[in-house]
Amino acid sequence: MTSADLLIAHASQLCAIPASNGGPQRGARLGDLGLIKDGALAVQAGHIVAVGPTAELRAQFSAAREIDATGRAVIPGLVDPHTHVVWAGDRSGEFEMRVAGKTYMEIMAAGGGIMSTVRATRAASLDELVAQTQPRLARMLAHGTTTAEAKTGYGLETAAELKMLEAIHRLQAEQPVELVPTFLGAHAVPAEYKDRPDAYVDLLVNEMLPTFSPLTTHHSPLFCDVFCEDGAFTLEQTRRILTRAKELGFGLKIHVDEFKPLGGSRLGVELGATSVDHFVTTPPDEVKAVAESDVIAVSLPGTPFGLGHTAYSPARLLLEHGGALALATDCNPGTCWCESMQFVIALACRTLRLTPAQALAAATINAAFAVGRGDTVGSLQVGKQADIVILDVPDYRHLGYRFGTNLVYTVIKRGQVVVDSCQEPALSETKGLNLRKSKLEASYESA
Ligand SMILES: [Zn+2]
Repeated sequence: MTSADLLIAHASQLCAIPASNGGPQRGARLGDLGLIKDGALAVQAGHIVAVGPTAELRAQFSAAREIDATGRAVIPGLVDPHTHVVWAGDRSGEFEMRVAGKTYMEIMAAGGGIMSTVRATRAASLDELVAQTQPRLARMLAHGTTTAEAKTGYGLETAAELKMLEAIHRLQAEQPVELVPTFLGAHAVPAEYKDRPDAYVDLLVNEMLPTFSPLTTHHSPLFCDVFCEDGAFTLEQTRRILTRAKELGFGLKIHVDEFKPLGGSRLGVELGATSVDHFVTTPPDEVKAVAESDVIAVSLPGTPFGLGHTAYSPARLLLEHGGALALATDCNPGTCWCESMQFVIALACRTLRLTPAQALAAATINAAFAVGRGDTVGSLQVGKQADIVILDVPDYRHLGYRFGTNLVYTVIKRGQVVVDSCQEPALSETKGLNLRKSKLEASYESA
């Protein structure tokens, strides 16, 4: 017998969601769950050491702790590859104005919009920024997200951007969600550069990027991102920033085609970006170009939903051309305050017309590759980190089918139980199912 720290046994479905040829699941391959019925998984020193049928693993391992997952589906920890989760302030008043029919310009004039978050974030101390972000990460974790990207971009000046990055590093040390930092100094042109945006691009290229460069600092972000959109940064400004970022060793991401296509998707292909994100109004020829490249399209269906818009990413066209698709929340205080990848999966099934299996793979293994962590997280495969979610439902398809409630039962990060709903058996559906089952069996027996 081999010893293990933890054995999870009798999962009604164990969804391994393997990488495909060492990369994301592309095109028609999206949705390969590697599903094992009555599945089990062994963990040693924070890593997965075996995955297979319960009978096989039981015969092979003696575990210090065993979790009985009878009646529950087990999936990899969800990965959220696009978030603006670090911010200060509150824009609920702005939401009320928006639903009452006020325009973006009217909201800006009333002090709303992204600049209100920039003002609040600049004014907040590091401690305040950490304290305001902490509950959002706790909610993400409770909803099954074990790895998340976290962008800067509400500082828009060197010192405030550094404070945001410092907050990300503090939060990384203080709570279980694994954070992947991205430098988004090019999120918006700050008010003080309103009439001279190219001077702000100069500041980004000459001062901020070298300061944040992976080549010059220990605590640098892995990625550099630009909001390429009318009213934010032009295609040429985006090219200038990302070309410099690439020279300085950053991986590249671009906010593209959220409202108006400027050619950002094609630029992402040209520069070898890791991902192009939003990807809503992308013209068909650029969808094809992305699909035929190594660039991952990250769709954020919570954002059009949050804005009450009806246009969503052309996901099916991307998949028809063999592309790689990932899903993310875009969690941010303006357009989409949503911490739940479960809700994003439900939206993706309806608005992108993905099957639950496709949406789940896009929210795990493909999302992991979209943040450069495909080799360590995103699937339940031997050698990977033991980032595991036990759902309180017997079938993974309840993700997608159901929305607005949390279907997570237990969350495990690097082999440690970090969310344990076992404390609340009254809320467990599986208990109800078992009760019903035993009543049914009893009624059969009496019949
Ligand atoms: Zn974004």
